[in-house]
Amino acid sequence: MDVTSIIDSLNDAQRQAVTAPSQAMLILAGAGSGKTRVLVHRIAWQIQVGASHAHSIMAVTFTNKAAKEMRARIENLLNIPTQNLWIGTFHGIAHRLLRRHAAQAKLPETFQVMDSGDQLRVIKRLLNSLNLDDSKWPPREVQWFINAQKDEGIRARHMLETNDLHQRQMLLVYKAYEELCSRSGLVDFAELLLRGHELLRDNPDLLEFYQARFRHIHVDEFQDTNTIQYAWLRLLTDGKDNLFVVGDDDQSIYGWRGAKIENIYNFQKHYPNHQVIKLEQNYRSTGTILKAANKIIANNAGRMGKELWTDSGEGEPCALYAAFNEQDEAYFVVERIRAWVNEGGLRSDAAILYRSNAQSRQFEEKLMATATPYRVYGGLRFFDRAEIKNALAYLRLMSNRDDDASFERVINTPTRGIGAKTIDDIRAIARDQSLSLWAAAIVLINQRTLSARATNALIGFLELIKALSVQAVDLELYEKVKRVVENSGLMELYQKEKMDKGEEKVENLEELVNAARLFNFDQENEEGMSELDLFLTHAALESGDNQGDDFEDCVQLMTIHSAKGLEFKLVFLVGMEEGLFPSQQSVDDIARLEEERRLCYVGMTRAMKQLYLTYAESRRLYGRESYPRPSRFLREIPAELIQEVRLRATVSRPATSIQPKNPPSISTGSYQLGQRVHHDKFGEGVVLQIEGSGAQERVQINFKQVGVKWLMLAYAKLDVL
Ligand code: ATP
Ligand code: MG
Repeated sequence: MDVTSIIDSLNDAQRQAVTAPSQAMLILAGAGSGKTRVLVHRIAWQIQVGASHAHSIMAVTFTNKAAKEMRARIENLLNIPTQNLWIGTFHGIAHRLLRRHAAQAKLPETFQVMDSGDQLRVIKRLLNSLNLDDSKWPPREVQWFINAQKDEGIRARHMLETNDLHQRQMLLVYKAYEELCSRSGLVDFAELLLRGHELLRDNPDLLEFYQARFRHIHVDEFQDTNTIQYAWLRLLTDGKDNLFVVGDDDQSIYGWRGAKIENIYNFQKHYPNHQVIKLEQNYRSTGTILKAANKIIANNAGRMGKELWTDSGEGEPCALYAAFNEQDEAYFVVERIRAWVNEGGLRSDAAILYRSNAQSRQFEEKLMATATPYRVYGGLRFFDRAEIKNALAYLRLMSNRDDDASFERVINTPTRGIGAKTIDDIRAIARDQSLSLWAAAIVLINQRTLSARATNALIGFLELIKALSVQAVDLELYEKVKRVVENSGLMELYQKEKMDKGEEKVENLEELVNAARLFNFDQENEEGMSELDLFLTHAALESGDNQGDDFEDCVQLMTIHSAKGLEFKLVFLVGMEEGLFPSQQSVDDIARLEEERRLCYVGMTRAMKQLYLTYAESRRLYGRESYPRPSRFLREIPAELIQEVRLRATVSRPATSIQPKNPPSISTGSYQLGQRVHHDKFGEGVVLQIEGSGAQERVQINFKQVGVKWLMLAYAKLDVL
């Protein structure tokens, strides 16, 4: 038995954690100190020394990507495949249990998972049918309310009657929503967790079985577990000291979604025999990056308090770039990445991290314009695109006729002469008789109250779904998808759509067929689900980690939230502005502001070698122009750790006073950076860069109408404004 490869590359504290006898354990340590590494090595060690079979181990992480990486690293250490090791997200594992035990979970075998977009649509429709006005009852608020209750383990029937009218109405909606989901066999994300918990709680035999099976349970990023997730872990480990959790209170960033940092304290109370191990050496970042991050997080009150050190040397100062506007910011970042690649760096070692998904567009455009491959994580996922959702809705209906959300989505897409009035009639019958829309449609046809045309159209739709199901029986998954895309009329619909838009949709549908062809049924299937159901679940749960070509070397773009746990040599933390980061909603609320600061700490500590911080002096976002002040977080970094970057002009000054300022005017000959100019053809713009001299002098201008262009001054006719 050779365990040297597993424990050799660990420091003393890490080794102690990895090799400790089975007991409850809390590894509390700062970013980059090897928590995830300890978790992976501990699992490998337990298997290697025979303390446990892979079969008896469960590991929970935060994203599908992290789960995949974790499995790969364990397999790499052990040199054996580990299929029967349960590694996944809370949602993924709960889903697996519900599939296995659907009847005991009081779910139909064919239940479908809704992602949050589907859930919102269902809620909208429900509010409509309850005659509640969207403006007074914003669907997103209702969705937030329902999910928040579920995250706390509260069902509608647990809620107390109140005199508060608003609360009472919310309760009614929550009840109606529960009924609708149960009638349609629909399960939202929060429901996966809640029902997963109820399944174990209410079925003692089952609970006992899983308690006996999982002799070791490991949780990464424990600081971000919510009430129901923790309750679920408690059930599974009840009476046993076999919960091994790693976390960092300074990286708790999901409080807004119900995560409870108190779980760290609860753990210590509930598992009195636990051992705490602290890791203090950071192996990820340079001394400067670590110092800057430590300084920022020191501004938060009520921390558990940890000190991190590194012996990897000081490294470069953190670079700060003040952009004129968001386009200049994107331009700067992309140019730096190109320089990095020119010097031999990998694109995948560079990450652009932003506070909000909406910021990615500018960077994507600049990356595209320079033909730099990139991948956006967690933006609009492939499976979220309308055309894909339409095709999936047909497939869902084939699998489960009672899936109302899908029924409604495609009953008249493509248009087949089923009018709003007919759909309203179907809804009314469904509501009055507590039927699914499918069953209500049959009732409506039998009532013979519809015109002949409407009746035919409706029958046509029902027959289409039935025919697709019958034809699909013996087909391979991808052939099913292909048949649906073609026979539903969707392909034709998008082929007729004008220009690029339609073309892109057609390509996406083709890609869906392709995705079905490549779908790894064997790897995902454990619960005897049909291949189609498995594929549909995959579409709902997959967080878009797989978009693009896995093997291509791509620049990485994601929100800071989704960068948790990851590391990159070169990190750009962009949009460091008041109102954006920290977000507008958090600036007046100390608890939320501290969560933003932890987010900033998470973002900075992703960087291994070089960290760039950027902000724009004017920004157009969500269609509005603003002139934000630089983020307060920038001021919290000691000046000696930062160097300000100025393009071309070799001005670099320590950022002692990061004040709002007008576009800097650094004179470089005939034009100035930031100067407004007019060009006969391109209109008005702002000078971004100046290069060369004499006849070779070129200026880069950001034109309002046509975007960024380089012009030779010798030829361009520019008027200074
Ligand atoms: P985060 O809080 O960001 O999730 P973490 O504490 O989980 O960070 P890891 O991702 O496990 O940290 O480790 C950070 C980096 O340091 C990784 O590249 C890891 O391989 C490396 N590392 C950790 N421990 C050691 C060690 N003892 N020797 C060499 N490298 C190490
Ligand atoms: Mg980690």
